[in-house]
Amino acid sequence: MEKNIFAKIRDGDKDCPADIILKNEYITAFKDIEPSAPFHIIIIPNKEIKTINDIEDEDVNMLGHLFLAARDIAKIYEINESGYRLIMNCNKDGGQEVFYIHFHIVGGCPLGKILKLPKSSKKKIN
Ligand code: AMP
Repeated sequence: MEKNIFAKIRDGDKDCPADIILKNEYITAFKDIEPSAPFHIIIIPNKEIKTINDIEDEDVNMLGHLFLAARDIAKIYEINESGYRLIMNCNKDGGQEVFYIHFHIVGGCPLGKILKLPKSSKKKIN
C-alpha cells in the first residue's frame, strides 16, 4: 500500500520534501503547500490515524500534544495575540483530503465567520 503523504513528510522521505517548522516525540508541524491564509501550518501526530473517527481512548495524551504544539507555534510566530483558527476536517462532508489526522493553524489576517455554507446545506439534522 502507498505510504500516506503526511507519513512521508513525517519520515523525511526525499520524494516528499516539506518545510518542517517543529518536530518532537509526539508531533510534526510543517507549512501547508497551498496556504489558505498568510499563516497556514499543518500539525500531525507522529502516530498515523486516518480520521477523527479512528482515534482511540489511548490517544488522548498524544492529542493533547497537538494543542500544546498549536499554542507554541502561535506564540513563536506571534499570532497568539491577534488570533488564529484551529481546524480538523473529517471525511467527505468535512472536506478532508489527506487521510491522516491533522490540525490546520490558520491566521495572519481576520478570518471572518467560521463557515460559509451553500444554500443547499440549510436543512437541519435533528
Ligand atoms: P484537509 O483537506 O484537511 O485534508 O487538508 C489537507 C491539506 O494538506 C491541504 O491544505 C493541502 O494544501 C495540504 N497538503 C497537501 N499536500 C501537502 C504537502 N506535500 N505539503 C504540505 N501540505 C500539503
